[in-house]
Amino acid sequence: MSHAVLREERTKTQPNGSDLCLACGLCCNGVLFDQGVLLPTEFDLAHEIGLTILTSDDDDTPTFRLPCACFQQGRCSTYRKRPEACGRYRCDLLQALKTQEIDLDAALEQVAQAKALIAEIELLIEDTNVSESTSETMGEAMSIWQRAQQFAQRHGLRLHSTEFTRSFPQIQLKISALYLLCDRHFEHFMSKPADRL
Ligand code: SF4
Ligand code: SF4
Repeated sequence: MSHAVLREERTKTQPNGSDLCLACGLCCNGVLFDQGVLLPTEFDLAHEIGLTILTSDDDDTPTFRLPCACFQQGRCSTYRKRPEACGRYRCDLLQALKTQEIDLDAALEQVAQAKALIAEIELLIEDTNVSESTSETMGEAMSIWQRAQQFAQRHGLRLHSTEFTRSFPQIQLKISALYLLCDRHFEHFMSKPADRL
């Protein structure tokens, strides 16, 4: 077997993580996180590429808002000039792919399942009486969690409350399924702030 064939075989068995990430984007679109971390030296970069910088009185760590303003048409529009944390981040699924605990097809299947759930929730919370601009906050995209919160509020309910589950059992079921899938395969939400949902 030639080196070229060997290299090709290795590429097949060790897929580049970008094959997965280009099909995913859950760490950029607000599904896994509502903020990304910036280095103190990255303020200029953040301004230059158009990130929304978030300030917090009780936390010195600069962050930027997610869904990210640079996440466009399903991919990072500033890939070569993104914050360092973006380049370093590996969700559990990507790590499992890289260590070959899972193959690319199986990893893509998890992404497809998450996206299918998001699409189903979007359909269920779609409200034809509400203008399109409400799916944005001050011109910025909202995550599926924010839109679900907003849907509940429009109905005078709190997401996850007994009343919400009673009134919209299908939506609550899908939201719980998405939450569990993300928690199991992408990022452990249990270690994150409880106000994610
Ligand atoms: S969530 Fe994981 S697989 Fe998806 S884009 Fe981010 S690092 Fe890649
Ligand atoms: S800068 Fe790029 S990689 Fe980082 S969160 Fe935004 S879209 Fe994702």
